[in-house]
Amino acid sequence: MFWNEKIETMPRDELAALQGERLRKIVAYVYERVPFYKEKFDQMGLKPDDIRGVEDLGRLPFTKKTDLRDTYPFGMFAVPREELIRIHASSGTTGKPTVVGYTRDDLQVWAEVCARCFALSGARPGDMFQNAYGYGLFTGGLGMHYGAEYMGISVIPVSGGNTARQIMILQDFQPDVMACTPSYALTLADRLLEEGVNPADLRVRVFILGAEPWTEEMRAELEEKLQVDAVNIYGLSEIIGPGVSNECIEAKDGMHIMEDHFLPEIINPDTGEPMPEGEVGELVFTTLTKQALPLIRYRTGDLCSITYEKCKCGRTHARMSRILGRADDMLIVRGVNVFPSQIESALLNIEHIAPHYCLVLSREEHLDVMEVQVEVTDEFFREVGDEVFSGHAMEIVEEVRELENIVRTRLRETLGLNARVKLLGPGEAPRSQGGKLKRVIDNRVLK
Ligand code: ADP
Ligand code: ZN
Repeated sequence: MFWNEKIETMPRDELAALQGERLRKIVAYVYERVPFYKEKFDQMGLKPDDIRGVEDLGRLPFTKKTDLRDTYPFGMFAVPREELIRIHASSGTTGKPTVVGYTRDDLQVWAEVCARCFALSGARPGDMFQNAYGYGLFTGGLGMHYGAEYMGISVIPVSGGNTARQIMILQDFQPDVMACTPSYALTLADRLLEEGVNPADLRVRVFILGAEPWTEEMRAELEEKLQVDAVNIYGLSEIIGPGVSNECIEAKDGMHIMEDHFLPEIINPDTGEPMPEGEVGELVFTTLTKQALPLIRYRTGDLCSITYEKCKCGRTHARMSRILGRADDMLIVRGVNVFPSQIESALLNIEHIAPHYCLVLSREEHLDVMEVQVEVTDEFFREVGDEVFSGHAMEIVEEVRELENIVRTRLRETLGLNARVKLLGPGEAPRSQGGKLKRVIDNRVLK
């Protein structure tokens, strides 16, 4: 089923014309309304009129997450604050979040693209939808919520977590569609099976999964365990939230990008040059219709490839591959963006803590576990005694436990995540052969 057949199946030359027209408008719009862009254009000697169509995209400057951070919280907005009717935020690089805003029209576009995602996933008006994405500052919950309502789906806004309640609702309400993160879907599947629930007794037929990287193996496992279809959805708050792209259930072979609203490019992350079709590089988006936070050539940091081949579902919009990695050092832990630099700044200035740490990531029952291993100072080490840190101590002394608590609290405040904390003696943090500290050890097997 299509949601907006005319747009979704538009011949590519017509689509390019529409994109070109919208690109010209948005370029003039940001030049007039966003000082950041006016300055950039002026510096480059670029006039809005120089951009005549998508073929000129490469002449425009890039926008980075740090630009949003530098203008925190509202500096990149193109409308007066009073015209925002919604504000969301995502985790940033320094402890301050990246703030995004929406006008009424923006929210309408968001509902439209999310409704298309439901159609792509095989959902229909009249279905019932269990929304297990988090509601709140995170865009996932509310984005999907309004898309589903717009389509005419009954939404159950259960939000994330509380597996017992999710299972109760799945059994008692019998929804047709569910959305959550892929790792959570697998946790849920295991719990369902452990509790002896027969998947045939559940009506749910499709899971819409995103917000973090996952694999074909995970899809196969979930589809097999629960006898459902699982489709991939992609988005990021800076561009709109969920609804940037979604796989079609017919092919499950790449996520169709809502190209009439978000103009994609793949660039070489080192040089900024465009990559040939089909090759992996950094995904870049220009928003074509956003009013509150229009972004020109926004570098997502996500690595993937794009194909423009026609899809068997009949849609003409480009498809992006799964996200294969990050161009920067961002990690995604339980759906939350984490930069090692955030850990560094969180640990800074904690008394008795040395700036030598290692972030160890693993998975327990499909869920991410983050352990921060950090060295104490020589002074603290000498005071408290080395046997405590050799791993053979009979009991952890009070000072160590206290220090661990301080570190844990600081990390939770900065990252919005619970981390395990392990204090190490001086020189004990994992180092590579060259003696360089290993900042991240990622033992998560995407399974
Ligand atoms: P937060 O989760 O902190 O609120 P965002 O929603 O903006 O922040 O996070 C967006 C990022 O999540 C993307 O840039 C990408 O790295 C990741 N992401 C979202 N959907 C997917 C997906 N389907 N596959 C892989 N990564 C995804
Ligand atoms: Zn398709």
